[in-house]
Amino acid sequence: MTGETLPLRFGGGRYEDRPPAPRLSLDPSALAAPLSSLEGVTPAVARRLEGFGLVTVGDLVRHYPRRYDDFRQRKQIRELRIDEEATVRGVVERVRADRTARRKVRVVKALVRDATGAVEAVWFNQGYLTRVLTEGAHLSVRGTYRPVGGRPQFVVRSHEILEEDEGEGVHTEGVVAVYPASEQVSARLLRSLVRRAVPVMRRLRDPLPAALRVAEGLPSHREATLAAHLPSGLEEAELARERLVLEELLLMQLGLLAHKREQQERVRARPLPAPGVLSTGFVAGLPFALTAHQQAALEEIDRDLGRAQPMRRLLQGDVGSGKTVVALYCLLRAAEAGLQGALMAPTETLALQHAHTAARLCGDAVPLEVLTAALGARERREALGRLAAGGPQLVIGTHALLTGDVVFPALGVLVVDEQHRFGVRQRDELVRRGEHDGLAPHVLHMTATPIPRTLALTVYGDLDVTTIAGVPAGRQPVTTRLVDEAKRAEGYAFVARQLDKGRQAYVVCPAIDESESIEAATAIAEAERLAAGEFARYRVAVVHGQMKPAEREAVMAAFTAGEVDVLVATSLIEVGIDVPNATVMMVEGAERFGLAQLHQLRGRVGRGSARSYCLLFSSSDTPGGQARLSALLDTTDGFELAERDLELRGEGQLMGARQAGAGDLRLARLARDREALVRARGLAERLLGADPDLAAPRHGPLRAAMREAFGTELGWLLKA
Ligand code: ADP
Ligand code: MG
Repeated sequence: MTGETLPLRFGGGRYEDRPPAPRLSLDPSALAAPLSSLEGVTPAVARRLEGFGLVTVGDLVRHYPRRYDDFRQRKQIRELRIDEEATVRGVVERVRADRTARRKVRVVKALVRDATGAVEAVWFNQGYLTRVLTEGAHLSVRGTYRPVGGRPQFVVRSHEILEEDEGEGVHTEGVVAVYPASEQVSARLLRSLVRRAVPVMRRLRDPLPAALRVAEGLPSHREATLAAHLPSGLEEAELARERLVLEELLLMQLGLLAHKREQQERVRARPLPAPGVLSTGFVAGLPFALTAHQQAALEEIDRDLGRAQPMRRLLQGDVGSGKTVVALYCLLRAAEAGLQGALMAPTETLALQHAHTAARLCGDAVPLEVLTAALGARERREALGRLAAGGPQLVIGTHALLTGDVVFPALGVLVVDEQHRFGVRQRDELVRRGEHDGLAPHVLHMTATPIPRTLALTVYGDLDVTTIAGVPAGRQPVTTRLVDEAKRAEGYAFVARQLDKGRQAYVVCPAIDESESIEAATAIAEAERLAAGEFARYRVAVVHGQMKPAEREAVMAAFTAGEVDVLVATSLIEVGIDVPNATVMMVEGAERFGLAQLHQLRGRVGRGSARSYCLLFSSSDTPGGQARLSALLDTTDGFELAERDLELRGEGQLMGARQAGAGDLRLARLARDREALVRARGLAERLLGADPDLAAPRHGPLRAAMREAFGTELGWLLKA
């Protein structure tokens, strides 16, 4: 496909050489026109392009290069050096087809001459060239000069036939755009097509208002689009990319902010009265003083709860930063207003732990219901009856809260812990259940898996974000070590010394994606092995996902009470468990865990005042795994780790921006374009602050671009 030429020829001149286009605003149909409207696009070519996802001229214009090749330096034939890649131009003198020594591969050879000398250009497996390359043709060839069979030849990477004294070549000279391409649609074809779309590009309207463009020092949309496809230099291409990335991210941010506003305007909530004795008494009665960040979070939440729009807040705080008291505070705020406050946790263990904490810290001022799958039928029926009666209540549970017969007649506040573990549908379902008389609950999402700022702005771009930075004072950082297989015995000896001091330890078995039962079996076997071997002198217990909730709860309770020294667990131990006397976390098969997960596991220790340790056993030395583990050794800051994780894995594996309902990012890469994202967020806030509906005439093009990007997702855009 690389040798393909389009059925029609067109000049190789760059867009700057063309006469200036009239300053007409673009007829939108020019972008919507099918690619077959471009010169030379036959129905067969159009079908191939369609198979590649390019249907309209607009699709082509927004199919941006992946990178650029700098072929600006042209050489004279006499200047060619062995093994050096270069572009030369000359006239074809003689063409012949041949086969390689072993007669396998067809070779086309052409003698090319310029003013300084001649060289034999060779192509492999492109026999059709004997029909295309004619004597006297002006040829530009990009390739490498190297000895083939003892004789220096010019092995061609790409070539093009030029008109005599024609301007710069398209594929072999200048800065050459390299497009995402396929078998059917070559970069070469795309380069040719893009040149035919230049008249359309020259008339593109700028979605950004002129004032903003000037203030931000941005090239126009038209300039940027042309320069992205046909740059005269690499710097120009980079500037063009920056501008287009910013525009793309700005549209996304406008979409997310608009979505948020739409939610707020459509849905009402009960404004809660100012904090009463219950919530203020709770804070005053805590065995510790709140950190400044916790305090600030409560204040933000108080402001939210006083409004007639539902709170939609994401509370993110590193492991151990103290989110639970914030959650309980929210529930109490609902209860003292005579409403229900519900907390949904991702696992049984965690729900029960929250229930214990609530009972301990909130006393029995408000009735507490616990709703998990562990309840017997009668208990459940009774609990549901009390829920249905309404009135002030704290409700803590798992997704059992979402099953068919659960009703919340007066849900004031909903807290979703470790919200990333629930699907969006599950969360929406709970919010919907909580809606009553057209009133939605206030919702606080909590996560201890820090979301990189970057993603918070995209995936959660329609939530308000509160961050609890740092952990309460007096904590000691956890010492993290990678333990070689050879040092395993020393590792166990170290753990034993901690146990001898009365401390406790976790041993986490490798995560096994395919099967929870294999994971459970591994944990059981490991517990038996340790109880009979290294930890024979200690009390060893095991928890895993296949146990009945009541059994699991009993083991956890024993560990919490200090009746178990070593808890062998599957990865389910990951979230939320809070046993301050545990000072060692041993992770087997550490390379199988994600960075965020490992950070969570490490967060299970270092919760008391004693020094704590995280020992990572890893049998693999894959570069990816090593990079993750060494990131973990470098820092204990969950946010920094999350950013590192994003870099290592790329945003694709975390969450696509597409899932954010944010349209399609063609150019922006979240890991790379973070600064642009933050800038875009600021610009979007300013634009909507000044003109909430983007109704001003100067925002017409911006509205049009948003309508194109989001379609019917944003109702208000379609109103005007
Ligand atoms: P996470 O944010 O990971 O859910 P928790 O809410 O479980 O963290 O808090 C971790 C531990 O820190 C708990 O034992 C909690 O009682 C304690 N804690 C919370 N806030 C403070 C504070 N301001 N000062 C001291 N300890 C605190
Ligand atoms: Mg927690």
